[in-house]
Amino acid sequence: MKYTVRCWECGREVDDPFQYACPHCQGSLSVEMDLSHLEGTSAHDLRSRPLGVWRYGHFLPIGSEPVTLQEGGTPLYNCRKMAGEYGIRSLHVKFEGANPTGSFKDRGMTVGVTRALELGCKVVGCASTGNTSASLAAYAAKAGLKCVVLLPTGKVALGKLAQAMFFGAKVITVNGNFDDALRVVRELSQAGDLYMLNSVNPFRPEGQKTLAFEILDQLDLRLPDRIVYPVGNAANIWAGYKALREWHSLGWIDRLPMFTGVQAAGSAPLTRSFALGDRDFRPVEDPETIATAIRIGNPASGRKALRAVYDTGGVMTSVTDEEIVEAQFLLGRKEGVGVEPASAAALAGVRKLLDEGTVDRDERVVCVCTGHVLKDPDTVMANCGKLLRTEATVEAVRRAIDS
Ligand SMILES: *Cc1c(COP(=O)(O)O)cnc(C)c1O
Repeated sequence: MKYTVRCWECGREVDDPFQYACPHCQGSLSVEMDLSHLEGTSAHDLRSRPLGVWRYGHFLPIGSEPVTLQEGGTPLYNCRKMAGEYGIRSLHVKFEGANPTGSFKDRGMTVGVTRALELGCKVVGCASTGNTSASLAAYAAKAGLKCVVLLPTGKVALGKLAQAMFFGAKVITVNGNFDDALRVVRELSQAGDLYMLNSVNPFRPEGQKTLAFEILDQLDLRLPDRIVYPVGNAANIWAGYKALREWHSLGWIDRLPMFTGVQAAGSAPLTRSFALGDRDFRPVEDPETIATAIRIGNPASGRKALRAVYDTGGVMTSVTDEEIVEAQFLLGRKEGVGVEPASAAALAGVRKLLDEGTVDRDERVVCVCTGHVLKDPDTVMANCGKLLRTEATVEAVRRAIDS
């Protein structure tokens, strides 16, 4: 695997593996894969390998035996009833809740934790809105590494917190939001206390590229018109764009789908700047939304995400918490697919863009549904009807059924 790590802003090569930003311009980093050995091949040549992250090992900057929990290979559901409800030609859901810890973060962690071992690190850490910590805790356990996670106090969904603690991470909640926690972890990593596995670590998005590769493989390489991502810290949408650019550069595909990002209305710095036509953004001070996984005011990969959207003719939009919950329940009750609120933002975004006329009813759209419904049982219970409790008799239960 030949690759170089470069500053995404100024293009300089960065040799020090413990840098997470460009020493010259503070720009974010990116892995540039040397794909020359794949020239003359096609995506079909990978088809004999099992679907999952490591099918795409040629595109990943790892030379050693991976730390894997068999991540990826998640279902792509053709949601015909949802498509009918929304009035669109075709709507697929890539269900990332089916990953080992229940979110797409596992795709990045298998690569990131393997990298940590290659570098001889003993302690890994991250700031997280929840899923990154759950995922890192599991992969660190598998690898035998100590794991430290920083979470915003009181704003982490119960399932995610339980997972991080269950897998034996040192779980620390900080008084502040995700952006504050990330700042502290960055400083700890600079000081050498830990190897940081947030998505500003350029190895994380490399693993997340495979989400987009799988979508294309599952559609037998018939490109969708649009891929829609919920956007928080903004690495995932950029990873998908980077992925398909790599396939495009090899001639494996002949165009790119429109990369479309959805933020929560209370946490939408990139949507705001997209509306102004800007390539940069101003952070939101006090981000707030029920979709805690995307409750991020200062997205570390924000500029990259905007590039992905502009370069492919996509859009950024935002949706309210009500729209998110509505989409979450509609998907559950029409299709039997359970996703967490942040994931449902992608669907709610499609509905809104259709209503506005931004998305055409003739399009074939794929929504990336990033995490499992069980991650956040509290929002489910808060939005479901009441439990029915009766005497243990047939009559009483019949009355309850008919009520
Ligand atoms: C991390 C996460 C996101 C946001 O991904 P970014 O790369 O930060 O934009 C969305 N949904 C879920 C469930 C997540 O865990």
